[in-house]
Amino acid sequence: MGRFATGVSVVTTFDGDRPQGITVNAFSSVSLEPALVMVALDRRRFITPMVRAAGRYAVNVLGADQQALSDCFAHAPVSPGREVFCGASWQPGPTGLPLIDGAIATLECTIVETFSAGDHDLFIGRVDSLQHGRQDTAPLLYYRRRYLRVQQGADSPVEGKPEG
Ligand SMILES: Cc1cc2nc3c(=O)[nH]c(=O)nc-3n(C[C@H](O)[C@H](O)[C@H](O)COP(=O)(O)OP(=O)(O)OC[C@H]3O[C@@H](n4cnc5c(N)ncnc54)[C@H](O)[C@@H]3O)c2cc1C
Repeated sequence: MGRFATGVSVVTTFDGDRPQGITVNAFSSVSLEPALVMVALDRRRFITPMVRAAGRYAVNVLGADQQALSDCFAHAPVSPGREVFCGASWQPGPTGLPLIDGAIATLECTIVETFSAGDHDLFIGRVDSLQHGRQDTAPLLYYRRRYLRVQQGADSPVEGKPEG
């Protein structure tokens, strides 16, 4: 899976009234109609029971300049630490979930199904609200256990049929 390049997100939820987050790259689209996505969380992580109990989560897609947040929410030994939401500034989104300022896209989801698979829980979320963040910022990428950045702006059209 390390050869499969992905973006990087921080999945957030509330523990009571405290925002909590975890760095996640196991984030995928599942269905277009209705709009469903999936995040896979290791069952041993402190946040996994919180997500299950809240029944809701937000996905904050990180920009290339948010690597420090990715590290902090993956429990790097930094200050301010994860117990204070990595010092990230955030706002409640339209459905009230914590959205990190500067994310390039955010989704707020209600959990509609949960599957247990191996050592992870798969949370299928119905997308209740979707916001595009900064348009001018490239995504933070993850490849072979390292961060990757888009250096060249070159892209090319898809000849096959794109989803949707
Ligand atoms: C690029 C990237 C992608 C990743 N993708 C995924 C993924 O898709 N799915 C996945 O499951 N993991 C993923 N991870 C790993 C995940 O982000 C880390 O493993 C995890 O955040 C590290 O936490 P931990 O191992 O210290 O365990 P945790 O259980 O998160 O924390 C250990 C202990 O620290 C304490 N603690 C931690 N945070 C707090 C807090 N906020 N408040 C109070 N106490 C706290 C608790 O006592 C807890 O028991 C990814 C990591 C990276 C870098």
